[in-house]
Amino acid sequence: MGEKFNNIETAVIHFGYDSKKHNGSLSVPIYQTSTFTFESAEQGEKRFGGEEDGYIYSRIGNPTVDILTEKMAFLEGGEAALAFGSGMAAVSAVLLSLTKAGDHIVCSQGLYGCTFGLLNLMQDKYNITHSFSWLSSVEDLEQVIKPETTVIYIETPINPTMKMIDLSMVAKFAKEHGVTVVVDNTFSTPYLQKPIELGCDVVVHSATKYIGGHGDVIAGVAVGTKAFMNTVESTTQKDIGGIMSPFDAWLLLRGLKTLPVRMDRHCENAEKVFSHLKAHPKVKAIYYPGDQEHPDYAITHKQMKKSGGVISFEINGSKQEAQDFLNALTLLKIAVSLGDTETLIQHPASMTHSGIPEKERLEMGITDQLIRLSVGLEAWEDIWKDIEQALNAI
Ligand SMILES: *Cc1c(COP(=O)(O)O)cnc(C)c1O
Repeated sequence: MGEKFNNIETAVIHFGYDSKKHNGSLSVPIYQTSTFTFESAEQGEKRFGGEEDGYIYSRIGNPTVDILTEKMAFLEGGEAALAFGSGMAAVSAVLLSLTKAGDHIVCSQGLYGCTFGLLNLMQDKYNITHSFSWLSSVEDLEQVIKPETTVIYIETPINPTMKMIDLSMVAKFAKEHGVTVVVDNTFSTPYLQKPIELGCDVVVHSATKYIGGHGDVIAGVAVGTKAFMNTVESTTQKDIGGIMSPFDAWLLLRGLKTLPVRMDRHCENAEKVFSHLKAHPKVKAIYYPGDQEHPDYAITHKQMKKSGGVISFEINGSKQEAQDFLNALTLLKIAVSLGDTETLIQHPASMTHSGIPEKERLEMGITDQLIRLSVGLEAWEDIWKDIEQALNAI
């Protein structure tokens, strides 16, 4: 690349793009093409044979998408990245690449609902089993690891209970046991947390959330070593085919330019809303990594730059009262997803995590009273005013 980027605020804007190579276009051009023409039959043969660099077909590589993946690899401190049509396409391509029939996956006690569904599918169809663990100590890890464990799959903060996992502790244990650690970094983004620098091997993202940041794209990214990403690229990405479109890559490149600015405001707003929510009598419990009374606060402080923009809390009341609370909101939008400019609020037990059987759901801490709030970029006073009037209405 030549340039050295020490500051993420500069890197998100400038890294990996040379306008001189694109007619001076300030904005990255969208190469909206399915295929690339060869100058001769021999050139086509050389490209397919790997003897000549160059594009062939957009499922295998596209210049707009490549600028995004180079930037994401740099931001996460990895060697290479791949882009996918959704977060789940990234998660499934990575997990299918790291496992074979008979293998075992250790995962955090609490997972995105569709990741849970994917693990069950892999178990039912391919005999790739999994075990849940809070992963809060080496003893926890020793209890769940098996000779056939090949992957430890982690969310931290865990969606939606905001439990934290000490990534360097898990990474150290995994190295000693020859197990690959995959971290879903969707809630934190590389601005707040860099799992690869803490010793983890692979990072996956639902770029739909904070990376895009504007609620207008479904996308996924995976970051890791060059060798691993090459394997994924030539197998589970190329042949299963859940790739990202050039236009979606462009939307993410645009979103990334403001990632640090947006994250700062998401975090600031969340802190303000948290302190008011915590003091409200209708709030029975609250889960937010920045809560100094949170049992995992020391981990948050150690591995995250700030505490993120998501808060979960339990309403003092029934499931119906939790739903009445949502219905009483006038500014906040009832919607799943997170990380958008708009504040989004949802009821995990009946929405994002409704596919998880009740027993497992409750073990994950997802009760019928739990509400997940993704604090947006509006004036925090307006966000709080709407929450307060809705709480007072139930
Ligand atoms: C949304 C989400 C996913 C899935 O991503 P999609 O882009 O919706 O496929 C995975 N993990 C986490 C933590 C998420 O929030």
